Amino acid sequence: MYKDLQSVPKAYNEPVKSYAPGSPERASIKAMLKKMKSEEIEIPMVIGGKRVKSDNRIAIHPPHDHRHVLGYYYKSDAEHVTMAIDAALKAAKDWAAMPWEHRAAIFLKAADLLSGPYRDRINAATMLAQSKTVHQAEIDSACELADFYRFNVQYMTEIYAQQPSSDKTIWNRLEYRPLEGFVYALTPFNFTSIAGNLPTAPAMMGNVVVWKCSNTQVYSAKVLMDLYEEAGLPPGVINLVFPSGPVGGKVVMEHPDFAGFHFTGSTGVFQSIWKTIGTNIAKYKTYPRIVGETGGKDFVLAHKSADVDQVVTALVRGAFEFQGQKCSAASRAYIPDNLWPELKEKLVEQVESIKMGDPEDFTNFMCAIIDEASFDKLAMFIDNAKKDAETEIIAGGQYDKSKGYFIRPTVIVTTDPHYVTMEEELFGPVLTLYVYEADKWEEALELVNTTSIYALTGAIFSNDRYATDQATRYLSQAAGNFYINDKPTGAVVGQQPFGGARASGTNDKAGSYLNLIRWTSPRTIKENFLPPTDYRYPFMEEE
Ligand code: NAD
Repeated sequence: MYKDLQSVPKAYNEPVKSYAPGSPERASIKAMLKKMKSEEIEIPMVIGGKRVKSDNRIAIHPPHDHRHVLGYYYKSDAEHVTMAIDAALKAAKDWAAMPWEHRAAIFLKAADLLSGPYRDRINAATMLAQSKTVHQAEIDSACELADFYRFNVQYMTEIYAQQPSSDKTIWNRLEYRPLEGFVYALTPFNFTSIAGNLPTAPAMMGNVVVWKCSNTQVYSAKVLMDLYEEAGLPPGVINLVFPSGPVGGKVVMEHPDFAGFHFTGSTGVFQSIWKTIGTNIAKYKTYPRIVGETGGKDFVLAHKSADVDQVVTALVRGAFEFQGQKCSAASRAYIPDNLWPELKEKLVEQVESIKMGDPEDFTNFMCAIIDEASFDKLAMFIDNAKKDAETEIIAGGQYDKSKGYFIRPTVIVTTDPHYVTMEEELFGPVLTLYVYEADKWEEALELVNTTSIYALTGAIFSNDRYATDQATRYLSQAAGNFYINDKPTGAVVGQQPFGGARASGTNDKAGSYLNLIRWTSPRTIKENFLPPTDYRYPFMEEE
């Protein structure tokens, strides 16, 4: 059934290019940025391998230059979602029957295309339309996504190799079938790699997929659909549509063949969809698999023994890279008062030195916030922090949306460890700090553990092994990705499987066998080589 399982190429992490001055990759990406900026691209839906347009054409703009038009996508209505489901179901039989090594080959080829001839296109699309620096685009859309494809192929074979034991004259096997029906992949704006992984992980396991990406990630989604086609993915296996969330959700969640939901996004959306699935449960032919990675309120906790420079660097990178729009971004920090004066001075100096602007200017460390709604929400929290008695803004606090949605990296210090920005996910460049008494370490641990509903990532900084050990145990449920003396962002596929629990998700660890295993519905096959021919057992015989 699963021949040659050991023969897949060994997965490796795609090396990150530097884009330093004078490097060939810098010249190449600059040329691609110029080209893509000067065009207006068409982004149709892709249904059953066909490019489909609607009457509703919507312009897309760079968040850092919102008057510029990069292209247009075509909004889907309910009918397009139904077409996508039909196309997926039509493709399901042949795709499920395709031997696994051919599915593997398609995604291995996709990885090589992505890190080769598609590298500039995917990076430039992510830079221009999602406002990432070249480094942030490179680690996300080129490297992490190639890693997802390559490592998932390896994990798939490891899953298939898990087989039951067999007794004499019997052969037991597990057949790793796809789910019966289609999978709905609903993806966020902030990582092209997640947008790429959520539809392809189920597809690799033999499933067919309807994919709805975020409105603010359509450009890189289009590049990915071109990539899959070139890699040889058959029509209908992954279908890309652009409905509004509720329109797409309604058609999908009422469909009897809805078999799986692969989501990354905010906690509120996930919870409302889970409720709908629960309400509709009797409508489905099978219990849908639900996998969701959601929000975070990620912490950095420094012990009195921590190294100040290490903590400051972790805070600056962890809180402000990609404008803090990472689910793993450091957004609440707990600093002991013995370190505070020195740490404050260094932190303020470094945050104020951050240069922000257009990602085409490679000297920028930060670019723009994804859209106006997010900008306005962040500006409101910053304005409140300027007024509230228990808060002080020690760095940043300025914002301007005249050309692009720019918010200066902002550090709030609060005397209330339960101030709203210590608890709620803001998803932007706002870090809130609470200074605790250095000798009240255990109280700080308790605060970290109980302050927020989330449990995605968290970091502790300590040079005292007893404190490190205590924090690791005390905070065992406070983060799905726990870092010791490192920033809480930047998980690498194959090295730090990613995901959190509590309100942060189902913790199925993207980029690991734990996630892939959710997309298979195993069938046990028992074959008897010498079946019995008499119903009577020996104990029934006369003495
Ligand atoms: P979002 O929840 O707004 O959107 C996610 C997807 O759901 C998008 O495709 C969106 O169009 C769709 N959607 C929005 N409202 C909907 C509705 N009412 N019904 C159905 N679909 C709907 O999230 P976002 O702003 O794109 O991404 C940011 C969020 O994602 C943050 O909360 C962040 O923490 C989270 N995130 C989590 C992880 C993780 O691994 N835990 C990774 C990245 C992002």
